[in-house]
Amino acid sequence: MTETIHIVGAGLAGLSAAVALSESGTRVVLHEAAKAAGGRCRSYRDAALGLDIDNGNHLLLSGNHAAMGYLRRTGGLGAVSVAPDASFDFVDLRNGESWRLRPNAGRLPWWVLVPSRRVPGTRAAEYLAPLSLLKADPGASIGEAMACEGPLWEKLWRPILVAILNTEAEAGAAGLAARVLRETLGAGGTACRPMVATGGLSAAFVDPALARLRAQGAEIRFGTRLRALQIEEGRVAAALFADGEIALGREDRIVLAVPPWVAAEILPGLSVPTEHRAIVNAHFAAEAAPGRPPILGIVGGVAEWLFAYPGRLSVTISAADRLLDMPREDLAAAIWREIAPLAGRGGSPLPPWQIVREKRATFAATPAMDALRPGAATHLANLVLAGDWTATGLPATIEGAIRSGMAAASLLQRNSGAPGDVVARA
Ligand SMILES: Cc1cc2nc3c(=O)[nH]c(=O)nc-3n(C[C@H](O)[C@H](O)[C@H](O)COP(=O)(O)OP(=O)(O)OC[C@H]3O[C@@H](n4cnc5c(N)ncnc54)[C@H](O)[C@@H]3O)c2cc1C
Repeated sequence: MTETIHIVGAGLAGLSAAVALSESGTRVVLHEAAKAAGGRCRSYRDAALGLDIDNGNHLLLSGNHAAMGYLRRTGGLGAVSVAPDASFDFVDLRNGESWRLRPNAGRLPWWVLVPSRRVPGTRAAEYLAPLSLLKADPGASIGEAMACEGPLWEKLWRPILVAILNTEAEAGAAGLAARVLRETLGAGGTACRPMVATGGLSAAFVDPALARLRAQGAEIRFGTRLRALQIEEGRVAAALFADGEIALGREDRIVLAVPPWVAAEILPGLSVPTEHRAIVNAHFAAEAAPGRPPILGIVGGVAEWLFAYPGRLSVTISAADRLLDMPREDLAAAIWREIAPLAGRGGSPLPPWQIVREKRATFAATPAMDALRPGAATHLANLVLAGDWTATGLPATIEGAIRSGMAAASLLQRNSGAPGDVVARA
């Protein structure tokens, strides 16, 4: 009998598990509740703007090696632009000051000794502050592990940590921040080159993966919502979808790659992070004036990061729960007032806009929520978990989601040949 692996959820975790498993010749069926794949990392046509937009601007760094590997394997790398070097433009709206942060390529961070490469008015020694995150106790918050004050905190560490964790920086888990910093800034500028899916998230992360899966014979089902699992003798005997039931044979297995609140409904008693943080994106049908940076960090305003795409300006605001109740029109107008001059469009009237508020964009990357994240293996013999909220050691990011899918796939592969049992040797 041939083994089938059912993957539930076609976000990046499910897609990365599916790609890894189908590459190894396993029969894969991917089930997705929505009409399209990509989950929290997808593109769609926005009628108000008349443009294709992403649900949110996604920034990766070249040190995100699992994401790079996934893009190479699926053929999506061509839809991503990777900056030739690590260079980050910032502006402080409080005094108009602007600067460009330029870490050098190698691991030895000599750039902190060169005033023109660092934040104005800061000293080299201040750049060592995050080293204390690397030595922090497990379970420590950033506020407990490092000094959260001073100009460099305000102009560099806070904005970076909020973007990495999507959580108020002081409350964030020191261990999660340390892991990201170690793999990016700590690995030198070569690992910090910004990567953006300029042609849209789906063109880079979703469509090529689906094409590859189809070419490998995987079955992909959309509009199929998993409602429940039928458990018998410690294993999943059947998966109950909205459109019907699928019985699992002795050798069949299942990867649950759905968001944490869905996983907890389907597997009562499963430990999952329960607090989330919002991300707000504002999109404007306007183009930056020539010479403006493609990505701009904004300090001291409502907007945090401004992305300039052809024909579109997009703003990201992380840990944005405070903005969820603000009227959309007011929010769009406030953000446009801030960014129009930065994009060389000062004085222009508000162009067509769209506000996208993802209320549960990611789990809150606090020590308490991090402690609730489960590993890939479960108490059920033929079921494993994937998702950015599982215990990847990273915050909820594309890199974490892709690694979680790979971890689920390798757990299943390590145990292949032991029908239906992925726990015993996990
Ligand atoms: C606005 C925004 C901005 C972000 N910015 C960045 C960034 O700059 N950099 C970065 O690295 N990360 C960023 N992230 C995080 C990143 O998008 C996520 O970590 C990643 O996409 C999560 O993938 P996932 O597969 O774990 O989960 P999801 O994408 O949530 O996938 C789960 C899938 O399961 C499906 N599903 C749910 N219930 C069922 C069911 N019952 N049956 C079948 N299918 C079901 C869903 O429809 C979905 O497709 C951002 C996220 C958001 C929302």
